[in-house]
Amino acid sequence: MKSICVYAGSNLGNQPEYAEQARQLGVELATRGIRLIYGGSKVGLMGEVANSVLAHGGTVTGVMPTGLFKGEMMHTGLTELIEVKDMHERKATMIRLADGFIAMPGGFGTLEEWFEVMSWSQLGIHESPVGLLNIADFYTPLLGMINHSIEAGFALQTHRSLVIAAPTAIQLLEQMETFKRPVFGNKWKQLDEA
Ligand code: AMP
Repeated sequence: MKSICVYAGSNLGNQPEYAEQARQLGVELATRGIRLIYGGSKVGLMGEVANSVLAHGGTVTGVMPTGLFKGEMMHTGLTELIEVKDMHERKATMIRLADGFIAMPGGFGTLEEWFEVMSWSQLGIHESPVGLLNIADFYTPLLGMINHSIEAGFALQTHRSLVIAAPTAIQLLEQMETFKRPVFGNKWKQLDEA
């Protein structure tokens, strides 16, 4: 992987481990020579991971919609800042620039971005690894929801292997580096029966 897109909360959350692991992820990206692609903000876990990459000599591309966020939220010290017209263009740009994806803990914005890139993986629109940084079990309820969706017959058991999760940045990156996308059959049972 040459570039990883990180989706992360624009707040810090209420456990110190969230920011600690965000900084650790920054160290790992910088030392492995992997460019960070992210939303371009200086606040929350987004700011923590970007500042850590930069502090350890790595490179960071931020992708920001013009005028959507208050000026003071924008990180002005990035290697590269790409301004786009709206959130749709931003997400498409971030996906195009990256060959791996990680969600750190976050709110609606982070969850939405992760689910988009995950569903695009299921559809085969991209073949890159998609990870959840499950710091302090933040994503354990979401993993339970995904299993529930499989048990209820909506998501496929075979697609479960597309969800890579680990509690630390080092473990997650190791799993992502060895990820090989399986070959899948048809997702829709009714089509098999037709
Ligand atoms: P949330 O998890 O709701 O805090 O949203 C974080 C995600 O939404 C990030 O990955 C960004 O792409 C986007 N986002 C939300 N707030 C901001 C902000 N202040 N600056 C830049 N991007 C943001």
